[in-house]
Amino acid sequence: MHANYIDSSGVKMGLYPQANSGAAWTWQDNIIIPPNANLQDPFVLSGIIHETVHLQQPFFTRLSVYGELEAWQIDRNAYFEITGQFYGEPGATFHDPNYINQNNGNNRWNEISQLSLHSRTDLEAAQTLMIEISPGYQADKLPLQPIGDEIAYRLVSSVNQAVEKSIDSVKEIFDFLSP
Ligand SMILES: [Zn+2]
Repeated sequence: MHANYIDSSGVKMGLYPQANSGAAWTWQDNIIIPPNANLQDPFVLSGIIHETVHLQQPFFTRLSVYGELEAWQIDRNAYFEITGQFYGEPGATFHDPNYINQNNGNNRWNEISQLSLHSRTDLEAAQTLMIEISPGYQADKLPLQPIGDEIAYRLVSSVNQAVEKSIDSVKEIFDFLSP
């Protein structure tokens, strides 16, 4: 499916030096990978899948924890399809002996894989896990949901808070007036 998307959509892949070592999507809907990237490396391939997921997402979804969680989950499965191993398992990418000892195997990636895209609590958990797995990853700079949904969510919750506050004040007045 993702390979078909790359074939049929006119997505171009380019080699481009980047600050971080991974693949990235561009504003022109292309995928760039660093010139020294090894296309035999399953991590590079699953990174390309990751970016393909972003290109299939609506623009503001790409810039949200929701969009990242979807890409991380598919990316993890793609790596498993290619290697038969999950991230963090011995011999696999993200395997860190210290991390393994302290955290009971690849449980952070397992946790990521089990989070729901439709729960704000889960999206917050994803934000934390992503930064723990990949320190310096700026998941905390992204809105949880695509920005339109995020604004709608915040408006609704501030309206709800305002309504609750005025109900409280009405109750107080009522209590005050009641004998
Ligand atoms: Zn991403």
